[in-house]
Amino acid sequence: MAAGDTKSEHKPKPFIGVRFDCCNVYMRIKLNRAGTAFVGWCPRCTKRAEVKVSKSGSKNPFFVAT
Ligand SMILES: [Zn+2]
Repeated sequence: MAAGDTKSEHKPKPFIGVRFDCCNVYMRIKLNRAGTAFVGWCPRCTKRAEVKVSKSGSKNPFFVAT
């Protein structure tokens, strides 16, 4: 019974976890609107990270942004 939680996501995985190698920090980044890639920024140096969605399906639970 969560208040204000009537709108749910269609996509099963709206975000993934990535490790920013630049600052060695772990963070979640979100799927973009097109649904083609996960995009986020390093919380420390604001470096942009982009992980393309694999059509074949990735088995990796997280990615490393280099
Ligand atoms: Zn960084």
